[in-house]
Amino acid sequence: MSTDLSGRVALVTGASRGIGKSIALALGAAGADVAVNYRARADDAQAVAAAIRALGRRSVALGADVADGTQVARMVAAVESTLGPVDILVNNAGIALRRGLEELNEADFDRTVAVNLKSAFLCTQAVWRGMRERRWGRIVNISSGAARGAGIVGAHYNASKAGMEGLTRGYAARLVKDGVTVNAVAPSLIESDMTAPHRAESEARIPVGRLGTGDEVAAVVVMLAGNAYMTGQTVAVNGGLHYN
Ligand code: NAP
Repeated sequence: MSTDLSGRVALVTGASRGIGKSIALALGAAGADVAVNYRARADDAQAVAAAIRALGRRSVALGADVADGTQVARMVAAVESTLGPVDILVNNAGIALRRGLEELNEADFDRTVAVNLKSAFLCTQAVWRGMRERRWGRIVNISSGAARGAGIVGAHYNASKAGMEGLTRGYAARLVKDGVTVNAVAPSLIESDMTAPHRAESEARIPVGRLGTGDEVAAVVVMLAGNAYMTGQTVAVNGGLHYN
């Protein structure tokens, strides 16, 4: 059964590369028009948007630091004026500042929570009212196996992703009667710039014997976008690393 998202407008944060890029392309392939957010890599984001337009969909690349409420408001207004109201929000943008116990400091903690968690709050706040009015919406938060396990990044990263899963359940429960689902996807060890520096170390830990791909995460996001009955859940995509 393929998911048809024709006529839907999606916003994917952090979609210039990595998992977000795969998600943006997969949503476009499923029929959605897609806004491609990025922080710094404008050329990469423009290339993703061009690839989505080549599929016959509408797509724009929009720069915004999603940790900043003013920039999020401007970005969402730009999506609405170019593509229309956001039906599908994927909170994917994130950073993984690898820090040992001794070196982790307040600035690392604050920036990590702002980019990984507050951003999902800001973007969700900007779209949920419209979704509720239209009685249709899908919000997918890209968490991590680190929400439950230790991982290798650090306690600040664990906290930001665990918070994201709390945010997921909090909004899911409050929007459950309004046609809006809110779910999380928790990948572990997916090929991207984030995992490239410790690829060999990661590969050795994964029961499947390889890192996952962005496309494998994106397939789960598309599945969630097509499902009206599944809400408040976290779906792990981890090559057998953990069993929830
Ligand atoms: P990545 O390759 O490092 O890409 C990160 C993306 O986020 C880029 O598009 C980047 O934009 C964007 N970004 C970073 N900070 C931003 C900000 N403040 N505002 C807007 N965009 C911002 O990372 P990835 O591996 O694809 O990870 C994507 C998500 O999956 C993250 O939330 C990460 O925590 C999560 N995750 C990844 C793995 C993994 O194994 N890779 C595992 C678990 C969870 P620019 O290109 O413009 O800098």
